[in-house]
Amino acid sequence: MSALTDLWFDAQFLGEMTVTGHRHIDGIEGAQGLFLWCPCGFGKSEFPLDGGRPHGVIVPFSNPRNAPQLDPNVGPHTRNDPNSHPRWTMSDASVGLANLTLTPSIDVGAPTSCWHGFIADGQVK
Ligand SMILES: [Zn+2]
Repeated sequence: MSALTDLWFDAQFLGEMTVTGHRHIDGIEGAQGLFLWCPCGFGKSEFPLDGGRPHGVIVPFSNPRNAPQLDPNVGPHTRNDPNSHPRWTMSDASVGLANLTLTPSIDVGAPTSCWHGFIADGQVK
């Protein structure tokens, strides 16, 4: 378990999300999703803080904070259905990365899972 605010993750909220891009934003206001480097590489010697990362993860929200709903085709697709783009729900109590809670769990990777875990109360676990 580690803090989402750990510099390794470079976690940032995303706004203006479309099928072709997004914008990094400073806080949760206007957030439609979350970016972080995949926890599958966290703590591994081949991915030091000042080195490379395995790959990024984008987590689109079902309840953007004071921002438009996402188009249905925006965001990563599910492992087995290229037409299914899942959403995660932010808890109303979330005020920033430090206490962000998303549900349900996040299962990354295809064809097999590289990381399956939770972001809860600002912790990646
Ligand atoms: Zn991964």
